[in-house]
Amino acid sequence: MSGQTNLENTGKNALEADTAVSAGTPMEHSKFFGPSASHSWLRCPYSAIARNTIPDKSSVYAETGHLAHELCEIKLKLYFSQITAEEYQNRLDAIKAHELFTADMLSNSETYLQTVKELSMEHYTVEPIAYIEQLVRYEDICGEDGFGTSDCVLLGGDTLTVVDYKNGQGVAVSAKNNPQMRLYAYGALHSVVMPFLYDIKKIVMCIVQPNINLISTDVISKDELTDWIETQVKPAVSKIQSGCRDRVPGHWCKDAFCLNYAYCAAWREKFAAVYADYQTEYKDIEIDTLSPDELGELYTKTQELSSWLKKLDKQVEALLKKNVPVKGWKLVAGRSTRVFTDVDKAYEALSEAAKLDKEMFYSRVPLGITEASKLVGKKVFDAACEPYMTKSQGKPAVVPESDPRKAIDASAASDFADMAVPQDKPSDPPNENPQTNTKNQGGN
Ligand code: SF4
Repeated sequence: MSGQTNLENTGKNALEADTAVSAGTPMEHSKFFGPSASHSWLRCPYSAIARNTIPDKSSVYAETGHLAHELCEIKLKLYFSQITAEEYQNRLDAIKAHELFTADMLSNSETYLQTVKELSMEHYTVEPIAYIEQLVRYEDICGEDGFGTSDCVLLGGDTLTVVDYKNGQGVAVSAKNNPQMRLYAYGALHSVVMPFLYDIKKIVMCIVQPNINLISTDVISKDELTDWIETQVKPAVSKIQSGCRDRVPGHWCKDAFCLNYAYCAAWREKFAAVYADYQTEYKDIEIDTLSPDELGELYTKTQELSSWLKKLDKQVEALLKKNVPVKGWKLVAGRSTRVFTDVDKAYEALSEAAKLDKEMFYSRVPLGITEASKLVGKKVFDAACEPYMTKSQGKPAVVPESDPRKAIDASAASDFADMAVPQDKPSDPPNENPQTNTKNQGGN
């Protein structure tokens, strides 16, 4: 497909251009080998190219995260006496005045500060040196493009600690085997630690994700870190630098927000393979009589394509909204509905006309937990509301058998009605007729 070729060519130029740029001044973000993108570039060489050829747009989530990080930064800097109380107050006032500020950010930054204090006490006999929003470099691996900014680096004795604040609440991020954290740690070892002063043996990595009450820590030795760099990072970097355009699809395409996801040739190939497989393997089966085993097999094959297809939906819509023609599709106006231009004035007029109390046209609805918590901050909310709260049973989720959670006994639960087999399909295992069940049944 011509678009693919163009993208590849542009990608190649981007890498070559970067090699030239890399001799100059450092950039704010690493172009190819940034720690935060390492989840994808370590596994898929082409994702590094895609990051530089497909424009990324800043989102309100990114801006909110940036503001929350700034609050964490000043909290820590004040605690470690790296800014004055006056500077702290001025910056805090500016943060609070920002339209994206929420009271929740204050309690989250407190959690972050508290975690850093606990790490200091747990892993150091005297207060460690703190490097906050610290540029760390690993240019020995990938030239001057090898750098990133760590939220917090703690240094003392034989221990190096890196702490990262995550503002997201969609995906829980673990510090265990986390390449981003390991690259921060290696970068700090390489560019912050003075080897003649510190003989680092232990590496502590901690992710603080207060919006989902998650604090995750991993501890490895310096030797383990060095081994990981040699066996995982260096081969990946050299592949990319040698011009490898391999696309290696997996959960990181979605989880690491690869900008090439909707266009990716690897996903198109996966789609084509499943379709071809379906046409050959299932051609003799009456589709309406799939057994649960056959259904499970088919679901496994198609499941990983579902998020890619959703991405495709969004991409088509995004292009049409930018007036880019997409063959076979167009944008039409949604169904028009009547809306108030001024609901208060309308109901004032209505209450007079109908001779009814105006309040009868309003209902009192309590704020949701998230909204109320954001309004007053999580700490205040939890303290006041805890006695009046309980946990409802979560909606059952279908996951692969490899998932570590224990399967529930659906027959013991009463509220799974919405998971029942649809009424227009047979509700009992349908493959009692061997004539129509030509495919071998796989075991569970
Ligand atoms: S979508 Fe996945 S396979 Fe494709 S370039 Fe991105 S990371 Fe690689």
